[in-house]
Parts: sequence; C-alpha cells; structure tokens
Amino acid sequence: MRLINRIGYFIGIFIFIAIFYLYYATQHAEKNLEQNLESLFLQQAAEAAQNIETMIKKYVPQDPVNTLAREEFIREGLQNSLSLLVNSSFKYIYVLYRDQKGRYRYLLDGSKTDRGEFGQKLDVEKSLWDSVYRTKEDKIISHTNLSGLWITYLKPLIYDDEVKAVIAIDFSTTLPKHIRETTEPIESIFNYIFGAIVILIILLMYQLVLNYFTKKSSYVDALTEVYNRTYLREFLRYIDPSKYHILMIDVDHFKKINDNFGHKAGDHILKEVALILKKLLRSEDKIIRFGGEEFLVFVEKDQKQNDSLPINIAHRIKSYIEKYDFSYHGYRINLTVSIGICTKPERFKDINHAIKTADAMLYQAKKEGRNKIIIFSQQEKNQSCQIEYFSIYQVQEALDQNRVICHYQPIYDLESMRIVKYEALVRIVEKDGSLVYPGAFLGQIENTNVYHALTKRVLHLVFEKIARYRVPISVNLKFSDLSDNVIFRYIIEEIESHRDIAKWLIIELLENENIDDKNIVNVINRLKDYKVKIAIDDFGSGFSNFVVFKTLPIDILKLDGSLIKELDNSDISFNIANAIVHFAQSLNIEVVAEFIHSKEVLDKVKQLNIRYGQGFYLGRPAEKIESPSNAEVLLEST
Ligand code: GH3
Ligand code: MG
Ligand code: MG
Repeated sequence: MRLINRIGYFIGIFIFIAIFYLYYATQHAEKNLEQNLESLFLQQAAEAAQNIETMIKKYVPQDPVNTLAREEFIREGLQNSLSLLVNSSFKYIYVLYRDQKGRYRYLLDGSKTDRGEFGQKLDVEKSLWDSVYRTKEDKIISHTNLSGLWITYLKPLIYDDEVKAVIAIDFSTTLPKHIRETTEPIESIFNYIFGAIVILIILLMYQLVLNYFTKKSSYVDALTEVYNRTYLREFLRYIDPSKYHILMIDVDHFKKINDNFGHKAGDHILKEVALILKKLLRSEDKIIRFGGEEFLVFVEKDQKQNDSLPINIAHRIKSYIEKYDFSYHGYRINLTVSIGICTKPERFKDINHAIKTADAMLYQAKKEGRNKIIIFSQQEKNQSCQIEYFSIYQVQEALDQNRVICHYQPIYDLESMRIVKYEALVRIVEKDGSLVYPGAFLGQIENTNVYHALTKRVLHLVFEKIARYRVPISVNLKFSDLSDNVIFRYIIEEIESHRDIAKWLIIELLENENIDDKNIVNVINRLKDYKVKIAIDDFGSGFSNFVVFKTLPIDILKLDGSLIKELDNSDISFNIANAIVHFAQSLNIEVVAEFIHSKEVLDKVKQLNIRYGQGFYLGRPAEKIESPSNAEVLLEST
C-alpha cells in the first residue's frame, strides 16, 4: 500500500514537471523559431555578401571608388548582377562608400527600379556604418517590428587592408509574423491549462494540509490534548510490545470533584493532570486518555530494558500529583492517583492482554485503598490463553460512547398471564448495530477497573427504566461483587441516589459461588435497608446450597433453567423442582421459573404451582419495556 502511494507521488510529480516543461517550451517556441529563422537568413546573407565581394574584386581589382566612377560599363554590369540576387527576402542590395566629409554615397545599387546614381547621397545610421569602417568586420543591424523581421547585413569591402566601401543587404521576412499568428492560440490554450493546473494543485495541497490537521485532531482528545482511543487503535496496529512498558493511571475519587466543585472543576483537573503527565513523561512516551479520568501510558523502554524505569516514573507521577495544588477558583483541591503497571507487554499473548493486566493492577491498587502503585509480577503470568472476543478497551470505548445497553426479558405472573417484572441483560451495541452478548466481554474485564464501570452503568440504566416505567427490574450480580468494597461502593452510591425507587430493584445473585464471607450478611442487610429485593439465581444446579436461605434474607428463588427445560420429559427434574418449590413456599419465598421454552413446559410449571415464569415461549429479551398496570399491587404483595 505504501509502495503504491509512493509510486503515485512520483507519477504526480512527473506529470507536474512534464506539464511545466510543456508550458515553458510553448512560451519559448516562438522566440526559438524566430531566432532560428534569423540565423538561417543571416547565414544566407553572409554567403551572398561574400559572393558579392568576390565578384566586385574580380572586376575591380583595385581602388573601387575611382575605378567605378570612371568605368560606367563595369558598374552597369555589376549592378545588373546584384539585381539578380534581389528577391522577396533580399529586398535591397547596394554598396556605399564614405566620402571625405564622412557622408555615405552609392557605389553600386542592385535595385531593379529607381536605382541610386553613382555618388548619390544616402542617409544611413552613420555611427553603425562607421563602426564597420573602424572594425573591418561584418555587422548585423536588426529592426524587428510587428509586420515582420528587418535586418541589414553589412560587410566591409577591403582593399589592401583598408575599407573602401560597405556592402549592404537589407532583407525582411513575414514568416515570424505567421508563426506568431499560428502559435498564439496554442500558447493561450496552454496558458489556460497551466493556470487551471496551478489552481488545482493549490486546492489539492490545501486539501492535503486540511486532511493532515483533521487527522491529527481526530487523534487528540479535545479536553486534555493527549491522544484519544482512536489513536490508540491505530497505535496498537503497529506497536511492537517489546518496546514499551504500560502504565494505567486513574485519579482517585474523581467523582467527588465533580460532585463538590462542579463538572468544570473536574475538567480543569483533568487538563492539569494531563499537563503533569506530559511534563513528567518524555516525548517518545505515549499518553492516551483511556476513559473519563483514566490515562493509559506507553513508556518507551530504555536501552538496558530496565524495569525500574516505569516504576520510577510511576512514583514520580504519584508523588508529584499528591503534592500538587490543583486549586480551582480559590478552592484548594488535592488529589491522589492509583497506578497499575505491566512492565513486559511482550510476554503476553497480545497487547490487549497486557493492557488488561495493567488495568487489573490498577484495580488492585484501588482495592488496596488507592494512592498506590501495583506492578504486575511475572509469577502471576500463566493466564490468558482463551480466545479474545472483545478487548478491554473496546468495552471501555463502548461505555464512553453509550453503546452499553440493557435488554429486558419479561417475567410473567402465570395466574393472570400478565407481565409483572423484567430481568435486565447487558449488551454492547457494535458500531454496525449488531449486538454483543456478555459472554464475549465479561470474562475479558474481570477484576479490572472497567468491570466496575460496567456494573455501575448497568445499575444506572436499570434505575432509569424503573423511574420511567415504575416496574420491578432485576439485575445480575455476583456474590463477589458485593464483597468487593469498590463495586459495592458503586452499588450503594447508585441506590442512594435513587432511594425512592430502590424498592423496585431486584438483585439476582448467582448461586455458583461458595459464600463463606461473613461480611456478606451485613452487605445484604444494608441493601435490604433500602428495600432492595434479593433473588438467588440458577437455584437447583451447581453449588445449590440451602444454607444460604438460613443465613441470608432471600426474597426470590429462581429455579435453574436446566431443571425447568426438561420438566416435561424428566421425572427426576420434576420431583427436584417440586421439592424446591415446597421448600421455598414454606419459607414464604417467591419462586420464578426460567427457560420456559414451550407450552408443555409452561403447563408443567403451572402444575408445580410456580407463580412466576420467564422464557422464550413467554417473551424474548427486548430493548423496550411495557409498563404493567398491576405492578405496584404485586410489589406490595411480595
Ligand atoms: P475511583 O477512585 O474508584 O477511581 O473513583 P472515581 O470517582 O475516581 O471514579 P468513577 O469511575 O466513579 O468516576 C469517574 C467520574 O469521572 C464519573 C464521570 O462522570 C467523570 N468524568 C468522566 N469524564 C469526565 C470529563 O470529561 N469531565 C469531568 N468533569 N468528569 C468526567
Ligand atoms: Mg477514578
Ligand atoms: Mg475511572
């Protein structure tokens, strides 16, 4: 591709030079032609003058003036010979001598009519003629005018090394005029073409310059003036991972700045942070705004490939920011940052894994209390061999571009066969509009900062829907999300800011993790304080543990799909489901059957007295929600 571009450039330059040469050549063609013609005529004139001299000397061997004054017969003969040479080009041929007083008089005249008499005076440009007497050399006098070319060729007639007279041949031609008339239209056409080409080239260059700057600006983040993710994408295409260390830097508690001082203060701080990074890093290091207040830095390795380089840089950044006064409109603002480091990106399957690792280290730093630097140690590296569907920065990009959405699957009250609530299922909308399902990206962002940003976004979207439609919606979380203080803080923040509608939120916890964290009881009780409902997802498979109902205040039990979908052809599944339903009912726990994919299964579910159900047979997940009229009533009854 680059070779083709280069060839294109060369061809372009070649065409430009060729056109310029053509223009130049036409401009000069006329002049050249004129000059060539002139030299052709001069050559002829010189030959003619030479012949005339020879002829005169043959008949007049000495003292031509006195001899010809006497010998009228010879003069007549010579004049007749001269007149034979006169033609349409050689208009006048004559010989003049200079008298005692320096005036020029006819010696011979070759004119056919009106011939000058011997000794008759003729007015000439004296100084020019005198110079022929003086220099004893031929002289050319040209008088170019518009009607044609006029030249007088002068040749001294020398006897005994003395100029006795001057032979003159006046000749003219209208050829240059004809040439001019012919070339002028061609010339003006070329002038127009050349003018048009020059304008075209100027426009093209303007466009190129414009393109260059637009491209450059499309790579730069408008707020912080460091690179953006568009640049990152390009950069990752050509990167040699062995040349860089990776740093992931995130401002701690940045949201508080926005909350306490306003968004403008936040922007101001982001700019300052970017400036500090630029100041502390070298020009060969790449600074990219990865997310809102998260910067990804590629630190170019030094010659010794020393791992202490990125660590030193990270410490410098951390302590510089810690001490820096980010004052805004008189308010003193102090900040800290957390940094994750991946020192050897080349040891990973691909660069995305290395970035993911730096982000995971950042997440670790947050978890350990922030204002920390965590370096990825090589011993930990034995992971990441699965196929990467979606890279971490694609998820981050989807978050920033609001392409993370939820689809909502209806849950029916099987008695009234009306929709009473929904389950939210996260999706990423690709740029071409296609949907990416969580299986393709959740694994990639596990234990990273991006994961909790995603969790937060989902909660936010769900609360938006609840506020609008006043309908219970469940979201899927893991027990580990609740025991992780970073994510839990996000969850609580979101719930707190939607306190009045928190009662419509249902948190579905996946029943495939061993829960031995004592803290989980407190955490769930805190959620219950906001009237959030808790559901146990996929019960009846995997780790199914009845103890969970003893220790935790569970409201809803969702029967695992693998049991439900074979209710119509497996008695064992039917009996297990039956037992679980009885157990739940005895504890006053609501039961929901998932995976109802056919009428037969629905009938079995009803037969088991299961009140609520969802599945493709009842309704597929969709972006839209219908507001159920009796939702409030149902909520009260649960
Ligand atoms: P943590 O210590 O865990 O990093 O917490 P945090 O508050 O820094 O991080 P969180 O991800 O909760 O919040 C980031 C906030 O940054 C949320 C978002 O509104 C804000 N933000 C993102 N982009 C911009 C921006 O361009 N300008 C401003 N002012 N705020 C932004
Ligand atoms: Mg932050
Ligand atoms: Mg952040």
